Amino acid sequence: MALIVHKYGGTSMGSTERIRNVAKRVAKWARAGHQMVVVPSAMSGETNRLLGLAKELAPAKTDTAYDRELDMLAATGEQASSALLAIALQSEGMQSVSYAGWQVPIKTNSAFTKARIESIDDVRVRQDLAAGRVVIVTGFQGVDPEGNITTLGRGGSDTSAVAVAAAMKADECLIYTDVDGVYTTDPRVEPEARRLKTVSFEEMLEMASLGSKVLQIRSVEFAGKYKVPMRVLSSFTPWDIDIHEEAKSGTLITFEEDEKMEQAVVSGIAFNRDEAKISVVGVPDKPGIAYQILGAVADANIEVDMIIQNISKDGKTDFSFTVHRNDFARTMDLLNEKVMPALGATQVTGDAKICKVSIVGIGMRSHVGIASKMFRSLSEEGINIQMISTSEIKTSVVIDEKYMELAVRALHKAFDLDQA
Ligand code: ADP
Ligand code: ASP
Ligand code: MG
Repeated sequence: MALIVHKYGGTSMGSTERIRNVAKRVAKWARAGHQMVVVPSAMSGETNRLLGLAKELAPAKTDTAYDRELDMLAATGEQASSALLAIALQSEGMQSVSYAGWQVPIKTNSAFTKARIESIDDVRVRQDLAAGRVVIVTGFQGVDPEGNITTLGRGGSDTSAVAVAAAMKADECLIYTDVDGVYTTDPRVEPEARRLKTVSFEEMLEMASLGSKVLQIRSVEFAGKYKVPMRVLSSFTPWDIDIHEEAKSGTLITFEEDEKMEQAVVSGIAFNRDEAKISVVGVPDKPGIAYQILGAVADANIEVDMIIQNISKDGKTDFSFTVHRNDFARTMDLLNEKVMPALGATQVTGDAKICKVSIVGIGMRSHVGIASKMFRSLSEEGINIQMISTSEIKTSVVIDEKYMELAVRALHKAFDLDQA
């Protein structure tokens, strides 16, 4: 008998019929003798619907009081789906009970809309498991030290599930979603994408941080920190398929590098359209410039991703960096109003229509020429590279947003990711 955590995403919970299917699948696992904790997302579209209602009343702003209410609101989505799943399980003849984050409790910090889990008290859940109940724990939410409801950022139910699995020392955390595993790239963009049977924890971490939304990055961080065995698999297989076959399906996140030795140099391609590029033009090239620009940005709590400083000409240089698109307007205002006058720069320009495309693979550590192959393949498509950043196991480029799909497909082919 094992302790297993299942997580079901929004599409998997998208209708009462699908919730019934989830219940039948979970009941199958419980009847096979496992102790089951299930973490559902809100029904698909519900989180967007709720946040949309808030926006109708007042546009999003940087305001703690407003963000607190967003969390209070958005958390209802998971509360509803969790209760529905418990009801569906009961109608399958299983004893089941659902808990909101604050009831467990899942304790977080107070960073509304992007809270971090600090601890999970599993006493209540263990008591229910011992009494033979299937326990449903809401995804995406927790409670802060003042008793306020918090949420963990979009896609946060993945993190709830892995954190619960870590806290309970579960034997495995199974992330059921609308694809049957982690692919070489998003199959919605590249139909030739292939499912990976395994992906190393480090690669998954990079892919998630570079935009593959199949897993929220914090869930992967948790899995790594607590060595939670974790698998991504489909919720759309028939619920009554053989449990052993199901348990081996999908993509396993591995912690052993050796298992990957035989695999391709590049394992996957990630992309995101969440960033915007800003350039401060004609900055005097002298010590302290990077600090003056980026220090001001950091003080405003704005995160910077890629940074480039050009070589100087006539004592002046250009300085470019990227921020999240949501922070674009705020960063531009800050630079125009405060930083540029003090710096004596000529101009601040911005471009929100960019995207970042990245190749990821632990094999890149031991192979040379991978980045240049990437640049060649983009140049053959006539795609101009605006910025580059590299780490041991990834290379990212910023390009015009309109070439994103073309770039992903070209790179997928160039690195033979369509070949089994
Ligand atoms: P859920 O609601 O189950 O959490 P998400 O929509 O958050 O599901 O994540 C699943 C989606 O992630 C897939 O439908 C797919 O379009 C997208 N995706 C992006 N990159 C990848 C990838 N490398 N492999 C698989 N799916 C990916
Ligand atoms: N319902 C939340 C969202 O849509 C959390 C999740 O689905 O993981 O972002
Ligand atoms: Mg998700």
